[in-house]
Amino acid sequence: MRRDRPHLVSGVHKVGRPTKEAMPQSMHPMIEARREQMFPVLEPEELDRLARFGERKSYAAGERLVTTGEIAPGAFVFLSGRADVTQRGREGHSELIVTHGPGSFGGELAQLSDRPSLVDAIATEPVEAIVIPPHRLRDLMVEEAELGERIMRALILRRVGLLDIGAGGPIIVGRADNRDVLRLEGFLTRNGHPHQRFDPLTDPCAHTLIERFRINARDLPIVLCPDGRLLRNPGDVELARCIGLVKAIDPDKIYDVVIVGAGPAGLAASVYAGSEGLSVLTLDCRAFGGQAGASARIENYLGFPTGITGLALMARAYNQALKFGVEIAIPDEVGGLQSGAAEAGRFSLMLASHERVRARAVVIASGARYRRLDVENLASFEGSCVHYWASPLEGRLCAGQEVALVGAGNSAGQAVVYLSSRVAKVWLIVRGPSLDASMSRYLVERIAARPNVEILTETTITALEGHDGILEAIRCLSVRSGEETKRPIRHLFLFIGADPNTDWLAHSGVTLDDKGFVLTDMDPRRALETNLPGVFAIGDVRSGSVKRVAAAVGEGAQVVAALHAFLAEAGDKPAPRVNTGRS
Ligand SMILES: Cc1cc2nc3c(=O)[nH]c(=O)nc-3n(C[C@H](O)[C@H](O)[C@H](O)COP(=O)(O)OP(=O)(O)OC[C@H]3O[C@@H](n4cnc5c(N)ncnc54)[C@H](O)[C@@H]3O)c2cc1C
Repeated sequence: MRRDRPHLVSGVHKVGRPTKEAMPQSMHPMIEARREQMFPVLEPEELDRLARFGERKSYAAGERLVTTGEIAPGAFVFLSGRADVTQRGREGHSELIVTHGPGSFGGELAQLSDRPSLVDAIATEPVEAIVIPPHRLRDLMVEEAELGERIMRALILRRVGLLDIGAGGPIIVGRADNRDVLRLEGFLTRNGHPHQRFDPLTDPCAHTLIERFRINARDLPIVLCPDGRLLRNPGDVELARCIGLVKAIDPDKIYDVVIVGAGPAGLAASVYAGSEGLSVLTLDCRAFGGQAGASARIENYLGFPTGITGLALMARAYNQALKFGVEIAIPDEVGGLQSGAAEAGRFSLMLASHERVRARAVVIASGARYRRLDVENLASFEGSCVHYWASPLEGRLCAGQEVALVGAGNSAGQAVVYLSSRVAKVWLIVRGPSLDASMSRYLVERIAARPNVEILTETTITALEGHDGILEAIRCLSVRSGEETKRPIRHLFLFIGADPNTDWLAHSGVTLDDKGFVLTDMDPRRALETNLPGVFAIGDVRSGSVKRVAAAVGEGAQVVAALHAFLAEAGDKPAPRVNTGRS
């Protein structure tokens, strides 16, 4: 029940019932629209319950609570006083995002995962607050289910808000259609990290930065990180390290399980293993979500009758894994797997960063990678004009143009449906005689209803033409008539299947099938286990698996029971009670 009078709560702190005037104030319309959920004002008894998770601290007016680019001490629960949360604006000055007052809490997803803050927070009046460090914030989510749910929702919505207003992340200076700009933007977008792009063709701020740092046009793009560091056309890993997405891995720690791949299979295994008390490290060389993260709209995943974008579904799973204390390192590529002595952790994984990780058990969830077209100069157009994703980024890039798309499976169908609402025309190039054999009925019908999609069956691409990474035309051969046609196309999308990501297992001793997928279930008592005891495989990378999100998620859940059984048998952990239906 809400109370109106100031009162004392368990002697921990004195706080009045938050008034409308005391509620977090924001200047952004998007934030205003979702204010209630984004910035809930907690009841005194709720503040009281939160007190045990943190430490009470005082801040003087003008004192900094949080600094952009630095790891904050935790989330703040405000008992009295006020603090402004600001972002660093385009011209370098601060722009107000929200003002916190008594009863509100400050923080966003960065504080859940111990990552550098995306905003600044400064006390505008003397502040009394409970500061909850990241590991206790995760405890809170689990121990205080209802309150934890509200706080988690607020943290997620705040990140969505920051993504929406582009606050707090790095600034990329470069042309919107430059291949490295697209790569960097794609990397940040897929990892749910806010950023801004200044295009020198249209943005005076870009010129200011180029002049200030004396950058030659040839050296673009540059990236300005929140901590002030300047990177010249960085790789994904260099950028991730600069903005604090990846941290050094403790070489002495032995994880119960290391999961390779943060697609649906790897994230499901992470959530179940983390929630059941195992210490988990999940590694991915690119972004969370895997192939599913590339899906414009998943319509056949249980529980989402209106469909959901792959990125939204996977972002939820990623945050859920963080909530259960799973350590996630992205981008960190695993280059090899070695077996060793049980005391030393039994398995050792070598990373591309030259770090080593030790684990008692390993889950291979490295999925599959897109197949490339067998055309001589393909590589020179990849990243700028040849795409393997159809996300809003590519949608914007191709708006109003004619594009070509090769493929006949469901992923191709989804991309056609998505792109056709953004581009002038989609030429759908199909090797077989129709879509019926390979694409779900609902997608075939949806494509048929789009007037701006033309299907070229029994057709293959024979050549790509263009200069300096800019595609100008494609040549197509009709297998039926033998006729070759040239079409002016600037953007080509390829959805022609995938091969397993198992190169990194080359010298591991793990047995693969003749197509390179991981063989499991050699011993019927050990579901999902490979020929190496303690090494499991799930999802698309597994030989014979059903290549679907739900199947990958199911195997991610199932493998945790097998992991428990293995760790218990090896004497590493007592077996928990996992319901398998057997008595
Ligand atoms: C465009 C598209 C749309 C789709 N739409 C649907 C749909 O609507 N419904 C449906 O059910 N299915 C759909 N699918 C299929 C579905 O996405 C896959 O079956 C599912 O993603 C498989 O999950 P996974 O976790 O096994 O592997 P993946 O999703 O492939 O994830 C594997 C992860 O492992 C990482 N990895 C690989 N090698 C390494 C390494 N050496 N070190 C570290 N990390 C590594 C990768 O970066 C990747 O993130 C679609 C696929 C695509 C491409």
